[in-house]
Amino acid sequence: MKLVLATHNKNKFIEIRSLLPEHIELLSLDDIGCKEDIEETGDTIDENAIIKAEYVRNHYGYDCFADDTGLEVESLAGAPGVYSARYAGDEKNDEANISKLLNQLEERNDRTARFKTVIALKLNGHENLFTGICEGSIINEKRGNNGFGYDPVFLPKGYDKTFAEMNLEEKSKISHRARAFRALVEYLSQ
Ligand code: IMP
Repeated sequence: MKLVLATHNKNKFIEIRSLLPEHIELLSLDDIGCKEDIEETGDTIDENAIIKAEYVRNHYGYDCFADDTGLEVESLAGAPGVYSARYAGDEKNDEANISKLLNQLEERNDRTARFKTVIALKLNGHENLFTGICEGSIINEKRGNNGFGYDPVFLPKGYDKTFAEMNLEEKSKISHRARAFRALVEYLSQ
């Protein structure tokens, strides 16, 4: 079975290749000659995952899956959500995004948040969505140097370390992305 993973990110490709059953031949966007950045124009995380998977299916004819992730903060009505990467501007700067988030949350008591990953799979003419959620909260200041994005201020529920204080193995046991991919892998292994 040939499947395209709709990403240009080499690290993401290597990580996900290692999670999939061996009978799946995983191709990257570069492998199929797709050089363009697929525009994420959806209003929700689900929509953006679907847009990316559909783009590959419609323009290149391959079965495909794509993932999209966002941080949803309860007291900010779900923001930054689908705009997580560009929260503080188009340059997608992690430091600026965290500063903006901490400013927005100043003086708010409810700091409940969750990461949500959605994977859209287009296979044999069918579409399936797989969702992974990690519940937690946003702390007042950054802690830890690992990971990326909002990891230094995200404290997963039931843990006393932020994602940025965990190593990849610890984070992968509980992360939104790992949960969504485990659901996909289970489906593809059937
Ligand atoms: P993407 O859809 O995987 O590109 O994620 C969109 C944005 O969400 C990223 O640019 C990060 O700001 C944020 N994000 C996604 N996953 C994580 C994570 O595991 N930790 C921290 N931030 C994340």
